[in-house]
This record gives sequence, C-alpha cells and structure tokens, in this order.
Amino acid sequence: MDPLKTPWTRRRFIQNLSAAGAALALSGPASAWATGEKPRLKVRGYAAFDPSGKLRPWEFERRPVGDHDVLIEIRYASICHSDIHQLRGDWGPQRYPQVPGHEIAGVVTAVGKAVTRFKVGDRAGVGCMVDSCMTCERCTHGEEHHCERGETQWTYGYPSAAEPTRITQGGYSTHIVVRDHFAIHIPEHIALQDAAPLLCAGITTYSPLMRAQLDIGARVGVAGIGGLGHMAVKLAVARGAEVYAFTTSPSKVKDLLGFGVKEAVVVDDVAKLRPYRGKLDYMLSTIPAPFDVAAYAATLRPHGRFTQVGMPPAQELKISAIGLAAAQVEFNASLIGGIPETQEVVHYCADNGIKPQIELIRANQINEAWEKVLHKQARYRYVIDAATF
Ligand SMILES: [Zn+2]
Ligand SMILES: [Zn+2]
Repeated sequence: MDPLKTPWTRRRFIQNLSAAGAALALSGPASAWATGEKPRLKVRGYAAFDPSGKLRPWEFERRPVGDHDVLIEIRYASICHSDIHQLRGDWGPQRYPQVPGHEIAGVVTAVGKAVTRFKVGDRAGVGCMVDSCMTCERCTHGEEHHCERGETQWTYGYPSAAEPTRITQGGYSTHIVVRDHFAIHIPEHIALQDAAPLLCAGITTYSPLMRAQLDIGARVGVAGIGGLGHMAVKLAVARGAEVYAFTTSPSKVKDLLGFGVKEAVVVDDVAKLRPYRGKLDYMLSTIPAPFDVAAYAATLRPHGRFTQVGMPPAQELKISAIGLAAAQVEFNASLIGGIPETQEVVHYCADNGIKPQIELIRANQINEAWEKVLHKQARYRYVIDAATF
C-alpha cells in the first residue's frame, strides 16, 4: 500500500469541493447540502475507454447531491465478472469512458435534505442499480430491478441525464451519489470489504436460493465456482443443504471442502456428471459462458428446479430442448434481487458470519485481476481498496 495515496485523494476531493464554492466539509452537517449552490463532484476512478476493456485512472464529475441522494465515500469496490463482460462490449455496444463496479461499500459523507434513512457517518453499500420509477407496482413491492416502466437504472453505463458524463458511473471510484432508497445499510458486525461482494454476488445467489424454499438436507448443486458460485455454496451450506459443487478447476476442490460441501466434482468432461443423474433437488448455475445445460439438468430429480444466474456473452444460452424435456426440469433464470432482499442478505451474512473469500488489491492491479478472473484464477473475489484510486 502506498501510505501517501489516501490523504492525497481525500485532500484533492475537498479542494474540488471548495473550488466549486461549497462551504462544507465531507463530514459536515446534512443541511449544508440543502443550501446554496450544489456543486458537481469531481471524483477519481478507473475507467475503460474502449472495448479493449483496459482500465486507467480517470477524473470525472458526478451529479450534485439532490434532496433524495446520499453521497458515499467508497472504501471498497469488488470485481464482478459482469464488469468485464459489459466493458468489453460482450453484452452490446458501450459508451466510454465508463467506470465499472456494482459491489460498493463505504461511508455516507453527505445527505440531501429529504433523506431520512441515512445520516452522515453511516456505513452504506450500493449494488447493481441506483434508481427506478419508484411508483409502479413492482418498484413499490421490492422489485425495483423489474420496474414495470423499464426505468431501472443500472449502476454503470446506463443513460442518465442527471450525470455530467450522461451515463451512470460505477464503483471503481472514490465517491458515488445515489438515491437513498438504493443505498443499503451495512451493519457494524461485518467488515466493509466483506460486505461489498454481497451487493451483487451475494444477492444474486441468495434470492433464487430463498425462492427455492429448500428443506434442511435438500441436495443442492452449484455449477460454476467463482465469485457468485462460492457465495451460493456458503449460503446453501448455511441453510442446511447438502451441497454438490461442480467446477472445472481441480485447484478449487480443497477450498470447496473447506466451505462445507458434501462433494466437489471436477467437470473436465460432462461425463463426470453421470453419477449424479436424477440425484439433486435443485441446481444453481453461475456459469457465465456457454455450457451444456441439459447435461447439468440431468443431475436433477424429476421436476427438480434449475436456476441460471450466470450471464454469458450476448446474455444468451443455447439449450437442448429435448435434453431439458428428458430431464423433466423446471428451468428458470434469475436477475439479482430487489432492494429489501439485498438489505436482507447483508444482515443474514453479518448475523451468521458468512463472508466471501476475498483478496484485497490496489487500483493499479485491476487489469491484472480482470485477466485472472477470465482465467478462473480468482479466489474468489477481488476487492479494490478505494484509497488507491
Ligand atoms: Zn455483478
Ligand atoms: Zn417502477
């Protein structure tokens, strides 16, 4: 760690605020934001500038803190495989420069005058979305990620007239401004670096696992053991499931046994799935690449459920209809989770001591970390120390 970097970053940020004529300190009273001219916020981060997805430092502006917004000083942001897919254009053309990151944990340093859920000094996180219509049936029932008006605003790369860069910019940065409803409280009994990965990897796996309403002792398969998969394993084990982990990496077997799985199966060939035919009650796949879905589905008992959460390139999977039919599988897919459930998973993990296995890195290691994620070398979530941006 470079001990000089943190003070420099914070000092620069305060200078920027002063330059904009804002008579306030980062930890100042909330009312300061309600008076006078609201400055845009100059912040530092790491952005991609083209589909090569190579990240480098970038100074950019965020919108002023509005009445319903909170300003979060980011302490940690973790790396999700989705960051790489999106910034490299795997899911469609992107606007650049774009700052990725949707697993964000930090401390509230300012609040808008209408904010009641947060105060300065609160620990807070941000996940995959930062706004929605907030009035439709789904938004008012904890399903903001499925806004009926299609107004769910994703944390980075999404058009936003309010942002000076005209798109939302994510968590690989020093600060973020977010509507208070979309900030998640992080209780004191979980470290911020352990909380960050829960905001995507945690909720994305927790939501379908809860919906499956598994009995104690249910046989649960988890396919793909990366950031999401290892959280799925930990959550399913904590819920009393008998967990079967399917990975292509022999080097992950020891870790998986340590996480409490019943069996860790190295699937270097789908033939390795045959001994499990008809055995499992539920399967959660986090595999973010094309794979033989039917071969995995065949491990389920008749009418067992299979949930896909991994998002491959083009967000498409090729599936053998006859394979699914023969397995009599109830196939579905799931997308993150709503704000109340995201709050729930953070509390659940804090209360039960469930932590992601993380490796802390500096900002200048992000490109290298992305390569390692792509080569299945992450163990299991890289968490960026935001003081190094
Ligand atoms: Zn993610
Ligand atoms: Zn809505």
